[in-house]
Amino acid sequence: MEVDLRSDTVTKPTKEMLDFMLQAPVGDDVFGEDPTVIQLQDFAANYFGKEAVLFCSSGTQTNQIAINVHVSPGGEVICHEESHIYKYEGGGIAKNSGASVRLLQGNRGRITKEQIEKWINPELDVHFPLTQLISIEDTANRGGGAIYDLEEIKKISAFSKSKNIPLHLDGARLMNALVETNINPKEYASQFDSISLCLSKGLGAPVGSLLIGSKEFINKAHRVRKVLGGGMRQAGIIAAGGLYALKNNVERLKIDHANAIALESELQKCTWVKEVVPVETNIVVAILNQPTKRDSIIEKLKSEGIKTIAFGEGMIRFVTHLDVDQQKIEYTIDKLRKLKIS
Ligand SMILES: *Cc1c(COP(=O)(O)O)cnc(C)c1O
Repeated sequence: MEVDLRSDTVTKPTKEMLDFMLQAPVGDDVFGEDPTVIQLQDFAANYFGKEAVLFCSSGTQTNQIAINVHVSPGGEVICHEESHIYKYEGGGIAKNSGASVRLLQGNRGRITKEQIEKWINPELDVHFPLTQLISIEDTANRGGGAIYDLEEIKKISAFSKSKNIPLHLDGARLMNALVETNINPKEYASQFDSISLCLSKGLGAPVGSLLIGSKEFINKAHRVRKVLGGGMRQAGIIAAGGLYALKNNVERLKIDHANAIALESELQKCTWVKEVVPVETNIVVAILNQPTKRDSIIEKLKSEGIKTIAFGEGMIRFVTHLDVDQQKIEYTIDKLRKLKIS
């Protein structure tokens, strides 16, 4: 058996999703004429109660477009030190937008209004870069899928408004947070000026991310997407996968979360695991007793057909998703139970 727990990006489209994609009407989306792209964008705008949505090729692209719209060269972005926009987007903030970053530490990938407040640079002092964007990540990947408290988000949002600094959400795994907390998507989305949402992670679409915001913001984003080479033609074929995913694969994320908790329980019993970062959604991070054994443990699991990924020093990440069913979880638990680490 093969169980791929490296990431929720590895999912393959189901037959139902593929059939839906094949039947999708298409047109030239650069001319704004692809009916399926339009349908996906309208569906998401309505779902989140926002004015407009732009379908893009990846979550890196939606984040980078948002940053580019919000900041100007020499400006500064405030975010967590391990946030995806800073750590995993190839230096895009500097390269695409010429902006600097103010990196904050914080509990499991999350930052607070109190912290942010201290780092807003004084506008009238020419020494400082202008603070032009606050960006948070929910769920926080490096935080092991940790969810933000809505009350904290509301504080950050009210503060950002009072300072006239836009607030961006890297919501690559936003739906994991929303199904777990039962927060109303419209209430949640109203806190942000822009939101990036991945369709190609736990939702199971093969390609694509959505950028969500006001009409004015999306008009500007449209131009940036073109400049980055992200204008796509008969994009309805892939947008259909995203539409299918949003309509069918949101509630079932709860199954992934239950599976993650099952893995957490078993890992807690493993002698080679020091502790497991408390599971909140679909990401399980095991902290090892012997950090130097990390790669050999990953190899041993791989030889049993279980793929995992190194997650920094002495840590292994397991991610559940819609291609990991009950049987695969049971198989993994059985192998974890039998794994001998000297
Ligand atoms: C995966 C991910 C992204 C976007 O990644 P792409 O591979 O470019 O789609 C952005 N933010 C977070 C937190 C992610 O996990």
